[in-house]
Amino acid sequence: MDIRGVIAKKRDGRELATDEIAWTVNSYTQGAISDAQMAALLMAIVLRGMTARETADLTLAMLNTGDRLDLSSIPGTKVDKHSTGGVGDKTTLVVAPLVASFGVGVPKMSGRALGHTGGTIDKLECVPGLKTELSPTRFAAQVAAIGVAIAAQSAQMVPADAKIYALRNVTGTTESVPLIASSVMSKKLAVGADGIVLDVKAGRGALVPDVASARKLATAMIEIGARAGKKMVAVVTRMDQPLGRAVGDAVELVEAIETLNGRGPRDFVAICTLVAGHMLTLGGVAADARQGRAMAARALRTGAGLAKLRELVRAQDGDPTAVDDPAALTREATFVPVRCDTSGHVTGVDARAIGETVRELKSAAAERKPLCGLLLEKKVGDAVTAGETIARVAIPRPIATGSIERAARNIAGAFRISATPRVRQRLLIATLRA
Ligand code: URA
Repeated sequence: MDIRGVIAKKRDGRELATDEIAWTVNSYTQGAISDAQMAALLMAIVLRGMTARETADLTLAMLNTGDRLDLSSIPGTKVDKHSTGGVGDKTTLVVAPLVASFGVGVPKMSGRALGHTGGTIDKLECVPGLKTELSPTRFAAQVAAIGVAIAAQSAQMVPADAKIYALRNVTGTTESVPLIASSVMSKKLAVGADGIVLDVKAGRGALVPDVASARKLATAMIEIGARAGKKMVAVVTRMDQPLGRAVGDAVELVEAIETLNGRGPRDFVAICTLVAGHMLTLGGVAADARQGRAMAARALRTGAGLAKLRELVRAQDGDPTAVDDPAALTREATFVPVRCDTSGHVTGVDARAIGETVRELKSAAAERKPLCGLLLEKKVGDAVTAGETIARVAIPRPIATGSIERAARNIAGAFRISATPRVRQRLLIATLRA
């Protein structure tokens, strides 16, 4: 087979055969196809799309490049979750320990930052000493011992996704339904949980901006999971403004810990309890998603999820004092206020612009990049007066001259302020099940 023929076929909008997809994925993983050739094919997929059959074949081809976990010896139901990525989306850090505190196993393989969206692994690694590269054996043993593990991809598990994900991140090929679906579902199938809850984000800050594409993505992933015998639920949720108040690795970890302490921002708590409610239902400990949601909300108040996060941190060689004193995680950051110059009501906070600003700050920082971020003091629906602080930029020092000023300008520009308030929109757009 010749990769040039495969690229040209997709470039011309034709359907790739199962063996062409499997051969391409294997050859790229083994280094027999160059990054340039794979990037050309990825761009052709972004522009031309893939059929449901091609997307399923791509998922299986990626899955087959690595090992699969066997969790069958661990008693009870295991439930996994995945978000398609957003700005300020630190849900896994709350939901995984929260659900595990009810005795439902949560084996979670997470990603790093992709495009303007943050990555769970980058946030979790802000805990001093914490390891996210767990061998499949260690990962499974940890789920058996404490009920939860959050790990990055290793060379053994879905190596094709690790390589393709990194390439997509630098070639403008992140925003594609088949590429996102295969990336997410290859990881989910490798981990082998019995049930999977997907949070498919739609909006300015998401990898798919419109609701129709988000529904298409949710349907594609549900079909792949159902065909593999998994219990599947997908929620489509709004991602126009950042989730919660913190955006950036260390500040988001702090917000996740605060949420597990019962002090989370309203919208973030709503998503966490929504996702956890479905996970508890698939895990068989809640009768339905409504009861599961109430159970999750209660556990946020009792600190049960926080205790489980402490166990996870210890099991992954992290310093558990980070959980007890989260403020220490950002003590070395300087917070610079951003003020608004008009009075009115916040009617929009452009999540993509915020995500991109944090990404730029990180590339401008010489060291301690995870300290870069921001805290939103105002969100959609809030009233503001001219001169008031709307956000605070978190930065390590040293940082390139001009980058703080540029970030402050971009953040102020991301806020839409109008004379009349806008009604807050519901976060949940749709729920799909297999
Ligand atoms: N999460 C993933 O694992 N992959 C994507 O492509 C997007 C979000």
